[in-house]
Amino acid sequence: MIRIAFLSFALAASMPAQDGGLADRVGNTGFVQLTAESFHTLTPREQARAYWLSQASIAADPIIYDQMSRFGLRQKRLLETVVTHPQGVPPEVMKKIVDFTKLFWANKGNHNEMTSQKFVPDFTFEELKAAAGPPLSAEVDTLRASLFDPDFEPMTTAKSPRGKLDILQASSNNYYSPGLSLIDIKGFQERYPLNSRLAQVPDGKLVEQVYRAGTPDGKIPPGLYAQYLRKANSALEKARAYADPAQAAAIASLIRFYQTGDPHDWVQFGIAWVQDNPVVDFDNGFIEVYRDARGAKGSSQSFVTVTDQTLAGRMRKLSDNAQYFEDHAPWLAQYKMQGVKPPVAKAVEALIEAGDFHVSTIGDNLPNETEVHEKYGSKSFMFTGSSHALEHATGPGPLEEFASSPEEVALGKKYGDEAEDLMTALHEVIGHGSGKVSPKLTHEPAYYLKEYFSTLEEGRADLMALWNAFDPKLQELGLISSPDVAKAMYNAAARVALMQLRRILKGDTIEEDHQRDRQLIVRYIMDKTGAIEQIERGGKTYMVVRSYEKMRAGVGMLLAELMRIKAEGDYPAIKALVDRYGVHFDPKLRDQVLSRYAKLNLPTYWTGINPQLTLRGDTVTMSYPRDYMRQQLAYAAENGGQ
Ligand SMILES: [Zn+2]
Repeated sequence: MIRIAFLSFALAASMPAQDGGLADRVGNTGFVQLTAESFHTLTPREQARAYWLSQASIAADPIIYDQMSRFGLRQKRLLETVVTHPQGVPPEVMKKIVDFTKLFWANKGNHNEMTSQKFVPDFTFEELKAAAGPPLSAEVDTLRASLFDPDFEPMTTAKSPRGKLDILQASSNNYYSPGLSLIDIKGFQERYPLNSRLAQVPDGKLVEQVYRAGTPDGKIPPGLYAQYLRKANSALEKARAYADPAQAAAIASLIRFYQTGDPHDWVQFGIAWVQDNPVVDFDNGFIEVYRDARGAKGSSQSFVTVTDQTLAGRMRKLSDNAQYFEDHAPWLAQYKMQGVKPPVAKAVEALIEAGDFHVSTIGDNLPNETEVHEKYGSKSFMFTGSSHALEHATGPGPLEEFASSPEEVALGKKYGDEAEDLMTALHEVIGHGSGKVSPKLTHEPAYYLKEYFSTLEEGRADLMALWNAFDPKLQELGLISSPDVAKAMYNAAARVALMQLRRILKGDTIEEDHQRDRQLIVRYIMDKTGAIEQIERGGKTYMVVRSYEKMRAGVGMLLAELMRIKAEGDYPAIKALVDRYGVHFDPKLRDQVLSRYAKLNLPTYWTGINPQLTLRGDTVTMSYPRDYMRQQLAYAAENGGQ
């Protein structure tokens, strides 16, 4: 399960722009350079492993284009050929083609990866045809509707389609052959639910086209995407040679899975992978099912990460002292756990993100297979490299606009980054794992709290972070550079109730769980303690923290109550709280927030530029290219494109 940046505090805090935070921009899409300074702390052997794991990511990267559209790979090849042959094309036309191609790569096709909606070029069919030249003329004709007609396959994934089409027919992704409906596939037993395309062959029969490379002995034949998976496997083989035994075993199971496509081998990989926690970690596979309206087919994605050394040490200290924080929680003793075991959470910097893995994903908990994580646990990744890159690219604009005083701006600029990291670490390490439920409950709390459970749980984790931010223990452990960090965190927590309204374009209710929890915290504390005040000045609304001490008391009150509700499965109580404080907002206030944001002219969508790893002899070096187009063309060239 992934966590997207705008659901976290990340963009609410908004750090000062460091030198050139934004590398490039096309329309409302911003391009940011990912950095991974921890790479320099790796041994040459680890760096070599990182290099070959990254090569496996590059090899599998084209798959997602085909999964998202049956025209995807052909469009990709056409655009890449045109942008690498600019001779004779009018510069203003070429600029439009280059801009469109950047967005095409960023979204892995011509449907926006966040909204699923098709976007069309600013250049015309005739301009593209002229730029492509006679050899590609027929190809441009064939791709005409897929590129230029906004009504042709308008949504890649349509979970609530209007009109007569069902969710499969209305979704243009390539997980199913064109026109297949839910009725057509009813009763069909999938043997490869996650990694196959369901196709109707000419005699009307359904077949599963399995994504697999085939086994070397030929017993299992190659399937769909064999060429990419074979190439990924040969890079994985090289990575395996540089891996320690546990990771080598995990890599071997992935190679096996890519050969056979057998779901059993995928589970074996998950078991080996989740029990290994190396400094250079990775994932690669058909993983998330959000892109399939049916929620069955996995999209191809991968990443390679290096542990964020600055944060890792801090998280370990928190983890080692988890019992202290449990003992000092503001709730009833009977709901305190003995022998707290915090979840494995790793702060990481990405060395590469490829396929369907995007820079706006700043948290990821894997594997998704229940049979694996129930028995062997899960790994929680916090992509701090990504959240920092997004914050720096956003710049100080939102903080300057929404902070209520120059002091608040100064605190935010000085300590916002540290407050953000601390908030995340506390939330993940001691927030979610804390507390004990009543032995009277015969089911998990989610069973009793139903649609309010996630809001409660995210709220509890946020409140644990806020509660402990002022605990002197943090100073003693060297986890906080000044008590002002906690003040910056409290200011951000108050502001977010206002700033997050920009994400809700319609209506007057909040639906998303993280947004509800943040609204609940602020409105509850305003009502019960008066520590936060909503003021108007010059036609603008601000949230002011009047007293940090009183605000902390309010945090403690709500935290104790949420823990009691969770422990007792008290549905009426959570419903009353969330419905009263977490759901409704004034649409006029939202409109005001939207217009203040509009003036800041920030990107709506983000795309990451990966660090560049280069192998010369035995040595791997890392650089930050800041040139998205060159990087994508280099990946394409490695995969035999244009
Ligand atoms: Zn959480």
